[in-house]
Amino acid sequence: MQELFQKFEENNYVFNYRTVNGSKTVQDVFFAHPESVKLFNTFPTVLVMDSTYKTNQYKMTLFEIVGLTSTEMTYNVGFAFLTSEKEDNFTWALQECANLLKCKKQMPKVIVTDRDTRLMNVVANIFPTSTALVCEFHILKNVRARCILDCKVKDSKGKHVKSSNLVDTIMNAWEVIVNSPSEELYADAVLQFRKVCEQFPKFLNYVVSTILKPLKEKIVKVWTNRVMHFGCTTTNRVESAHGTLKGYLQDSKGDLAKGWKAINSMLIVQFTKTQATFGINSTVLEHKFKGNKMYKSLEYNVSRPAMNYIYKQASRVKDCGSDSKKCGCVIRWTHGLPCACLISKKLKLGRYIRLDEINIHWKKLCFEVDDDVEESNRHVSIPTELNAIQVFLYTRLYDIHVFF
Ligand SMILES: [Zn+2]
Repeated sequence: MQELFQKFEENNYVFNYRTVNGSKTVQDVFFAHPESVKLFNTFPTVLVMDSTYKTNQYKMTLFEIVGLTSTEMTYNVGFAFLTSEKEDNFTWALQECANLLKCKKQMPKVIVTDRDTRLMNVVANIFPTSTALVCEFHILKNVRARCILDCKVKDSKGKHVKSSNLVDTIMNAWEVIVNSPSEELYADAVLQFRKVCEQFPKFLNYVVSTILKPLKEKIVKVWTNRVMHFGCTTTNRVESAHGTLKGYLQDSKGDLAKGWKAINSMLIVQFTKTQATFGINSTVLEHKFKGNKMYKSLEYNVSRPAMNYIYKQASRVKDCGSDSKKCGCVIRWTHGLPCACLISKKLKLGRYIRLDEINIHWKKLCFEVDDDVEESNRHVSIPTELNAIQVFLYTRLYDIHVFF
């Protein structure tokens, strides 16, 4: 343990630990690389978190928290070695994570976890202003497993057997529920699902009482499409981060200092790659944007993924024109970027996309934004917390009533 703390100090990590009831036995350890702290303060909007196991000889859980940059690179915010996964351990680790934020107003907007109720409760307590989403992939896997178990057909001998056709029909009805773009369509989809599952009351009851009732706002598009999740609706980002780390850890039998060494090596590569994306995004313009006046003010100021999202919206203009109902305007809410109907209106008026129509997340192409510079740029860089108002104003301005 002393070796681990020495490594933290030598490498300027932000870290903390706590012991079991004042004894000398360490219970939990939290640590974050100084560059991770910078990235977290620059890109705090979306967090994804999950635990991984078999990383050390003490069988301590490694709890990983990741975020994403404007260039859509996953970065590690912080790590915690935990002796158990009780609410108390998560509370301590998440409080340490929240303490990394210099500006307390810049709390994450969205936090994605799996369906661990202990972790979900803690997220709601520590980040009360964030919207918690539950990994849609975990839910899908969960519903499918229950469906295979509970929904069977009778064969010619009257025996209950599995039917892949039946499972497919039920799962298709489930996917319609999850993808419902409005509350009306959600209600219709649930009715249809009840009809498809009416012979399987046990399964239906499970889905309704343990998934839809408590979690619908965390998994169904009509609700999740209203929050700034930048496309993160699964825990895939943190799971692939676990995978990358396992590549650096040779085995699961090392001590914590060995675990840290692997993490540190992984982070150095991660920061180099991230820095490279910032460099490319702020100096090289993709050919399709060259000479296109619509994107002129965004050139080199907005990340490449954001430019491509807008480009995709522009290609929808021919289908939906300025009709907000056809457009859906989802990208405005989920990514803070102009949608097809807005672009269509601009094209008609001969206007171009302005920098202040882009969420600030996509305009940061560095590890750390100088607070003073950010302050002086307020006329072009609307802070994240004002983005909801910004989106609302656009909606009013163009008289678009999509969701309400
Ligand atoms: Zn729109």
